[in-house]
Amino acid sequence: MTFAKQLRVLKPACAVPHTFTYQEQLFSQDSFAIFAGLCAVDTRASVEKTMRCLASLGLTCTRMGAYKPRTTPYEFQGHGASCLPYVFELAGKYGIKIIAMEVTHDRQIAEIQQALEQTGHPTGVMLQIGTRNAQNYELLNSVGKQTDFPVLYKRGFGITLEESVLAAEYIAKSGNQNIIFCLRGVKTLLGQPHRNLVDFAHLPVVKRQSKMPVCIDPSHSVGNLLSAPDKILDIFHIAASGVIMGANMILLDVHPDPKHACVDSEQALSLETLPWFIEDMMLVRETYLKRTRLNQLHTATKHVQTNEETWV
Ligand code: PEP
Ligand code: MN
Repeated sequence: MTFAKQLRVLKPACAVPHTFTYQEQLFSQDSFAIFAGLCAVDTRASVEKTMRCLASLGLTCTRMGAYKPRTTPYEFQGHGASCLPYVFELAGKYGIKIIAMEVTHDRQIAEIQQALEQTGHPTGVMLQIGTRNAQNYELLNSVGKQTDFPVLYKRGFGITLEESVLAAEYIAKSGNQNIIFCLRGVKTLLGQPHRNLVDFAHLPVVKRQSKMPVCIDPSHSVGNLLSAPDKILDIFHIAASGVIMGANMILLDVHPDPKHACVDSEQALSLETLPWFIEDMMLVRETYLKRTRLNQLHTATKHVQTNEETWV
């Protein structure tokens, strides 16, 4: 295709994956980070409990929703700009370097910048584009026009993978290439009883077709806290399936009192469960790295069969 050379996110032939560092944290198609935190900020106390727990586990990244796009307009919509100062101050207090935070309108980018300014930049922010805004091209251009913050782009839950990757291209074309692509499941009744049909099988496809690091969101994919007869929660099993394929980031809902979380209470892990989750994921990550070494051994000595696949 004639525009292939202009592509920033999709991989034209011979392109190398995009690597960037933000707040001393490296992001690439080889890196690995866990962003556990509140789906929605509810109280200062639960932000503090969560951040204290993350710090005790050596985690420096989190998720904190201030602007919540909800299916019904009668449910909690997030505290918005009013919670930003204490969220940022507490992040600074507990050594949290990056907060993934959804924005639903470009005015919120300025609100985040203002609150960071006001609090003396105690932390960094990764702007999240939610699945409901996956093709909101104006918003994509807005997060693309600024380079203060990297962008976590969540795939659209009702569009093709290619359409989502091309939507992420809008961000890059506007000027910001620091994008992480997040798989979070797609909406179809065939996914039941999970909240969404888990789409982590697309992880190697996104890595092959694009330059972006790939995140997985097991919480919004699975949407419940049920476990298999082996007593391992579906969220753990499904997160592990992404990590074993080389996921670069995990976005995870946790809450100090999951039953009383204002948003998505059915899927938040308790803070007591989080250390177990981390230990499990580190085990799987180690196995993934061993798999890549095994693969290097084999590909060095054998002919590997592969097909061409291009989207544009
Ligand atoms: C979220 O991560 O809080 C969220 C709303 O996710 P999604 O946009 O994937 O539904
Ligand atoms: Mn949620």
